[in-house]
Amino acid sequence: MYVGRFAPSPTGLLHIGSLLTAVASYLDARSRQGRWLVRMEDLDPPREMPGAAASILSTLEAFSLHWDGEVVYQSRRHHLYAAALDALRTQNKVYPCFCSRKTVQAEARGMSVDGVIYGGRCALNDASISAVAHKPPAWRLRTDTAIIGFQDAVQGWQQQCLASDTGDFILLRADGCWAYQLAVVVDDAAQGVNHVVRGQDLLVSTPRQIYVQQLLGLAQPEYAHLPLLTNAQGQKWSKQTRAPALDLRRREDLLRQVLLYLGLPLAPQVDSLADLLEWAVLHWRLERVRPHAIVTE
Ligand code: GLU
Repeated sequence: MYVGRFAPSPTGLLHIGSLLTAVASYLDARSRQGRWLVRMEDLDPPREMPGAAASILSTLEAFSLHWDGEVVYQSRRHHLYAAALDALRTQNKVYPCFCSRKTVQAEARGMSVDGVIYGGRCALNDASISAVAHKPPAWRLRTDTAIIGFQDAVQGWQQQCLASDTGDFILLRADGCWAYQLAVVVDDAAQGVNHVVRGQDLLVSTPRQIYVQQLLGLAQPEYAHLPLLTNAQGQKWSKQTRAPALDLRRREDLLRQVLLYLGLPLAPQVDSLADLLEWAVLHWRLERVRPHAIVTE
């Protein structure tokens, strides 16, 4: 059975970009008689906005996007991430890293797909562990030169060599926050998610997630990365780019707009938002979603 999900981080209110992701993942699941889960990715308290999680859920309901089962909160699942880290420790795939941000920058081996490539000081140097053992380390995953590739349903074939594209990456930060790359893999597996439909900004993360799945012996979901919605400057809509909150009085217009962005034909007049979604479920074709960013101003 198809199991899909929408996994927002409660760092801000839903905006047009996150609505697009919610709607696409919902339509893909419902058009294949699947389950659609909602998971709150609330693992980074400093970045969260008070009240955002509740507001995201009530906005989904206002759009008639009804999920199956209970909402899962990552903040209540630390034990699962700790067990996964333990399993990787047993395989000697992770090591404690005591490097400061400054050291990581100064000793970088180059630029990665989304930051810098860790120079490897703590991967090699066991002595550093006793030298600074008074402060908690971050835990990094060892990468290798194998090519990790996958077929994305929207973006086509993707591949990375983790050693040269990302370098060894963090699973548990020194401040005790679990990294997205670990939590998302553990939760998708634990919840039986077998289809991941999400924004294109996460495409560069997927090979790392596949690598973690492989090490933990977890099944690999199918992936579809949606086009990003950007402002006129080509920036992804987010809190940082001041994405306007959704105006719920205009929800039918907003939903119609999102359906057009997702390649659906023009929807007929309907009596309710629920009817509009039902029409969209019937007309949804993932292969009609175009890969390229959409400018929305
Ligand atoms: N929580 C992530 C975000 O809001 C999405 C995670 C995912 O879909 O894998 O960007």
